Amino acid sequence: MLELIDLHAEIEGTPILKGLSLSLGGGEVHAIMGPNASGKSTLAKVITGHPDYRITSGGIRFEGRSILDLGPEERARLGIFLSFQHPIEIPGVSTAEFLKAAVNATRRARGQPEVDAAEFLRLARERMALVEMDPSLLKRSLNEGFSGGEKKRNEIFQMAMLEPRLAILDEPDSGLDVDALRIVASGCEALRSPERTMLVITHYQRLLDHLTPDHTHILLDGRIVRSGGPELAQEVEARGYQWVRDEVAA
Ligand code: ADP
Ligand code: MG
Repeated sequence: MLELIDLHAEIEGTPILKGLSLSLGGGEVHAIMGPNASGKSTLAKVITGHPDYRITSGGIRFEGRSILDLGPEERARLGIFLSFQHPIEIPGVSTAEFLKAAVNATRRARGQPEVDAAEFLRLARERMALVEMDPSLLKRSLNEGFSGGEKKRNEIFQMAMLEPRLAILDEPDSGLDVDALRIVASGCEALRSPERTMLVITHYQRLLDHLTPDHTHILLDGRIVRSGGPELAQEVEARGYQWVRDEVAA
């Protein structure tokens, strides 16, 4: 489904990813953990084709083809979705307008019929309920003045509307209180499907209590240095990262 092959990437001349290899099968949920500044958000942005990052060597294959020559819009049309760690605010564009345009662009790319305003609203209400998001947010400017929790719910709601093949969630749990965290995690769990692969970046075991990953990986200094099952996340929660650093250095 997604294959990262000895990926090296830099931003403004600074190498961040330093030989990252990772393989995700169809329908699998993979968790990525790692200390601050290890390159987790960089990885997410590199997969989605963010223009600030330069891939200096290695490859990214999605459903059997290299996507390195594709821009972010083309990757999005293939069904690659990123929920941002820090969602951006777009004053003057309502959440509904933004999302309806995105949904219809995705549908056109897939050869599906576009949704009209009534159908959009019906779908939106249904899927906002997944993350217990207040429907009045649809009318407001995208993320403008949204609380941290509302922004995160909105990201998962967008995922629910866009039905991606590959969903990359960059710290969907950051800044959430315990209840919101449970709601966001169970929203993600509800969107789990054999048709959808998920790459979930998180610092906390708590998210993974509700969204149990098939595989867990530790990213350290631009490389995947440990992979395992859900128990690896528990080990990180209990012991931190120093033991991984020590093992890698040994
Ligand atoms: P993580 O998400 O794991 O906390 P990031 O991928 O956001 O880490 O960042 C990895 C490293 O890249 C950090 O050291 C960060 O300071 C650095 N970085 C991010 N953006 C830039 C930039 N524009 N110029 C130089 N370094 C950057
Ligand atoms: Mg980050």
